[in-house]
Amino acid sequence: SGLNGGARDWAQGFDLDDGHVAEPLLALRDRALAENWDAGPIIGGVETKGAGQPVLAPADTKRRVGTITNATKADVDAAFAKAVAAQPTWDALGGAARADCLDRMADLLEQNSPRLMALIGLEAGRTVADTLSEVREAVDFCRYYALKARESFAAPMPLPGPTGELNQLSLHGRGVFACISPWNFPLAIFAGQIAAALAAGNAVLAKPAEQTPLIGAEAVRLFHKAGVPGDVLHFLPGDGATVGAAITGDPRLAGVAFTGSTETAQIINRVLAGRDGPIATLIAETGGQNAMIVDSTALPEQVVDDAVISAFQSAGQRCSALRVLFLQDDVADGMITMLKGAMDEILIGDPLALKTDVGPVIDHDARELLVKHVERMTREAKILKVAEVPAELADGSYFAPHLVELQTLDQLPREVFGPVLHVIRFKATELDKVIASIRKTGYGLTLGVHTRIEATANEIFKGLNVGNSYINRNMVGAVVGVQPFGGQGLSGTGPKAGGPHYLLRFATEKTFTVNV
Ligand code: GLU
Repeated sequence: SGLNGGARDWAQGFDLDDGHVAEPLLALRDRALAENWDAGPIIGGVETKGAGQPVLAPADTKRRVGTITNATKADVDAAFAKAVAAQPTWDALGGAARADCLDRMADLLEQNSPRLMALIGLEAGRTVADTLSEVREAVDFCRYYALKARESFAAPMPLPGPTGELNQLSLHGRGVFACISPWNFPLAIFAGQIAAALAAGNAVLAKPAEQTPLIGAEAVRLFHKAGVPGDVLHFLPGDGATVGAAITGDPRLAGVAFTGSTETAQIINRVLAGRDGPIATLIAETGGQNAMIVDSTALPEQVVDDAVISAFQSAGQRCSALRVLFLQDDVADGMITMLKGAMDEILIGDPLALKTDVGPVIDHDARELLVKHVERMTREAKILKVAEVPAELADGSYFAPHLVELQTLDQLPREVFGPVLHVIRFKATELDKVIASIRKTGYGLTLGVHTRIEATANEIFKGLNVGNSYINRNMVGAVVGVQPFGGQGLSGTGPKAGGPHYLLRFATEKTFTVNV
């Protein structure tokens, strides 16, 4: 299948011989896996590790990746005090010097890429292809936001005025920003949010997802190594109810960058609105109920390739992933037959093995939700195909890719975060109904269209308020600066990550007028 093409390309750099990865690559990976990844809160540049809780590998839940010592409320308080005191100096440093730190961070990420890939593969269960593009994306975020900081935050913008009057507009950090990130991109989104907040002149309290704190800690260590002062960036691992709530409820907080579920974004929004103190900014990137619409003019082979990648890459654990494939009824049977065939080719297995297409889902809780969904689908819809999970993977939180046929989108009230692809047939005369049903979900993250009729693609694009639309290709893997990423409605607030307007939401503006 086309799922791990990226990994194969990458491995060629390491002299792939007959499908076996050359020794140097395996040695790098194994050395990384043997490192001690234990981590704890990092406050003022000092990391505190206690007995900690074990962090388990999704691919083998008997395997301990390391331990994490969670932050306490007192840690959150101490981090705020230091961050509030340090932020004005960081802001005054200017966009160019901050950009230098981010460029150094990008260099460090590149130099450490095999270690980081190995840790992400182990801790988050991501495949080699996914970890490769994840490190790449983290690098891209740092370099892109560095570029934007140099453009907009390095010098004030001169403004017009009457003779004898000087006018300038300058951009500044808002203060202390919380970056609260998900486990599905435990490095790229974590580092991307932090890089943006720092570039704009904020101090940062970074809270990683509970499932992936170890890669988060390593990213923060690298940011510090790159020159970000310890008092400007603090690492606060822990759960949402304790650490997340202590951060978001604190009146010293100026803003939150959050990626995760729509429900959690709504909770954060309410907490921010209910606090005393300054009005905080929320940048939220949340879920989707993402559809791909395929008409009878589409190229079947390409549809199948793109649908499989969009629905099953990363075990469907991308908020951009395809959830509902609308097939025009004249071509539906043929496409479904081809999809089933393609699902037979998917290799499910150890995410650290180069040949693996689909690894585990993040943990047993996530798998349980998927099992429940499929049980409901068995009663209320039709299961068309279940891919095969090899029996020896029983110790991991694996969940087989599923293909399910629905009658209407109303049967899918919530985002299902995993490798379950739903199909719905529609008649050529019903395109407007399909568009209306997608609008009705209230989500607006990604959209796929396969058609060779330009007017159809334009009609669908115009009819839907969706952040990222992809025509005649897959709908995942937005590239920084090329496909700025983020949605609308229940899918988030914008502005788009990796886009030209993102940093502005982290900033506040000052005008400066002098009577010369
Ligand atoms: N940016 C990623 C993509 O385009 C998805 C990010 C996410 O899942 O949060 O696939």
